[in-house]
Amino acid sequence: MNGYDQLRVGIFGGTFAPVHNGHVIAAKAFMEQMKLDYLYIIPACLPPHKQISPSDDPKHRLRMCELAFADVDGVVVSDLEIARGGKSYTYDTLKELSRPDTRLFFMCGTDMVLSFDTWYRFEDIFKLCYPVYVRRENDPIITNRIVAKITEYYQKYGVMFRKILTEPIEISSTAVRKAVFEGRDISSFVPPLVESYIKTHGLYIGEE
Ligand code: ATP
Repeated sequence: MNGYDQLRVGIFGGTFAPVHNGHVIAAKAFMEQMKLDYLYIIPACLPPHKQISPSDDPKHRLRMCELAFADVDGVVVSDLEIARGGKSYTYDTLKELSRPDTRLFFMCGTDMVLSFDTWYRFEDIFKLCYPVYVRRENDPIITNRIVAKITEYYQKYGVMFRKILTEPIEISSTAVRKAVFEGRDISSFVPPLVESYIKTHGLYIGEE
């Protein structure tokens, strides 16, 4: 038992095209700091807020997540959104994972916090989980914007985002794809098994 009256379950969703070290480090800090019993990593089928490459295959993104988290106890990589198909709305996912004996925590990066109030049924999302955010950059201007946004969420909706305390890792999937396109080394961006997978399957070679 975790010492709490409910199971503590985390959810970390994203496009993960590809999953990178920033995701892995944030996910581990999330598990530790929110004292999660387990954490779902859920690659989206179609992300509602992002363009995705026409050559994208969600199965590759799922497999890379499995490889990246293979040695992390308590992580469950789930195909729930890919199996559901279509646009992947966090509201639907939280609804599906809600249980009376479970307290859900949903983590996103700072970029997502700023746009959270444009998400499908975001007010209902606030009712279904404890929202959590993690810094992904050191920029003080963004810090100020985040503080203002979080204060706004608290004042308007009575919801308080919890913060994961960790040194920001300034990596993005875009930067990884760009490096592959330019033939640069990606070993410091992604876990070794993900790097091999990208090479074996020739992913991101033809797209900037
Ligand atoms: P892209 O560059 O393609 O937009 P991304 O790097 O932002 O991708 P996503 O898969 O879209 O990666 O992100 C999934 C979740 O992980 C989002 O909540 C995002 O804010 C968060 N995230 C992404 N990169 C980092 C990072 N370096 N540190 C912490 N969180 C991150």
